[in-house]
Amino acid sequence: MMGVNRLGEVMKGGRLLARSACRLLMPALALLAAPLHAQEPDTTVLTGGMLISGLSVPPLHDATIVVRGERIVEVGPAAEVAIPEGARIIDTSGQTMMPGLIDAHAHLFMVGYGSEAHWFEWLEGEGSHYSIEQIMELSGYQMLMSGVTGAIDLGGNAVESVSLRNRIDAGTVPGPRLQVSGPLVTRRAFGGFPDDASAVLSSPKEGVEIVNRLHRTGVDVIKLHAGLTRDDYFAIVEAAHANGMKVHAHLYDEPALRNAIDAGVDVFQHVGSAGMPTYSDEIVKEVAASYRPIVLTAAHRSWIYPDTVAFPERLQDPAAKALFPADIWEAIQHSFEEWPSEAYFSRIDRQIAFRSPQVKQWIASNAVMGVGTDSGTPMNFNHDGLIREMKVLVDEGMSPLEVIRDTTRVNAQIMGMRDIGTIEPGQYADIIVVPGDPVYAELNNLFSVQVVMKGGVIYKLDGAPTIPLPF
Ligand SMILES: [Zn+2]
Ligand SMILES: [Zn+2]
Repeated sequence: MMGVNRLGEVMKGGRLLARSACRLLMPALALLAAPLHAQEPDTTVLTGGMLISGLSVPPLHDATIVVRGERIVEVGPAAEVAIPEGARIIDTSGQTMMPGLIDAHAHLFMVGYGSEAHWFEWLEGEGSHYSIEQIMELSGYQMLMSGVTGAIDLGGNAVESVSLRNRIDAGTVPGPRLQVSGPLVTRRAFGGFPDDASAVLSSPKEGVEIVNRLHRTGVDVIKLHAGLTRDDYFAIVEAAHANGMKVHAHLYDEPALRNAIDAGVDVFQHVGSAGMPTYSDEIVKEVAASYRPIVLTAAHRSWIYPDTVAFPERLQDPAAKALFPADIWEAIQHSFEEWPSEAYFSRIDRQIAFRSPQVKQWIASNAVMGVGTDSGTPMNFNHDGLIREMKVLVDEGMSPLEVIRDTTRVNAQIMGMRDIGTIEPGQYADIIVVPGDPVYAELNNLFSVQVVMKGGVIYKLDGAPTIPLPF
């Protein structure tokens, strides 16, 4: 009946242009498709490689993981785990098995185009045969093929975000397990983004109304953005918590962080990527003592920019090209022609000057740390943003195992999902296999993930996708 209702909505919108009707119809048809796991065998065994479980224990060598249906049922040394009869066997010898990666700050409606505002202009004009929801679906595909099996989308259109999350959960489209915030809750609309991606308030009372409305729309979390007053923070956090939703706040400066701490914000996003001197010791200690997680989003701008200056060829990477429809690839190539002068990078010199002291300050604080990317922003691609972020944390002093733990188990805790983020019996089988030893290779091997399994379904095998680009 659901499909009929969706089609009914399309009929009702008969005044819409044919193109818009098409945009609505495609997800409706996808709803009628069979779940992707319909053909999967019941039991799969991954065996022979090293296991990084996501728990704070040393890796296990020559390990075996048994997956039945969508869950892990047994994990241990290969010599001690019996392989069930009839199981599909994936030989992981000489490789590393680890939990699927989770991005604690993504924007699936962007794909790394050289300018945020021009991206949405392109989507309104030349690229208008793509809906926002289709772009999100493309990003989800790119993430999944790169080993990202979970993500929190912190800023987008509510209806499209909720729809995509539900279709991924139903198993009808590929993508990471999603939590979505829908629009930025803010005092000023975010210039260049679609109107639906900002929810603008002019009083704390309006902030509460926005939170209640978003909760009814079905979003998972609230994303606070810029310019909010202290009273806004208190009113919005109280309303979100009353609805059982966590609040993620977009924070750069210390006064905003102060308000967010006092009001009870659950996750502090972007701290440590401010392009300004380090925070006071007092506030950093307070955040660390609160056990409330920070998500630095350090690599976007501050590392992506100089890395792209040093190796602009990364923008033409054939591995990236394979993850885009030809016309979007052509459009983003065009968008890179002017990128160093893009307004997004107008404060890049200060951001680079302060990047390392800020990140080091938070690492030294031992604050609980999730790992997120702000992916989709200029040159910050969905397929490599998370691995770049992880590498920055290693370069600035964390061990690869600590960073893997934060990108898997800690991010799962931030999502409030206890059954992902580690490889243990009972967990969802969200598992990736990477060549060699990512610890020794300081995570570089994550760039060439060989196997991606989510909920027991294999999306990538022997380094190749098992399903095609969505369109
Ligand atoms: Zn943000
Ligand atoms: Zn963001």
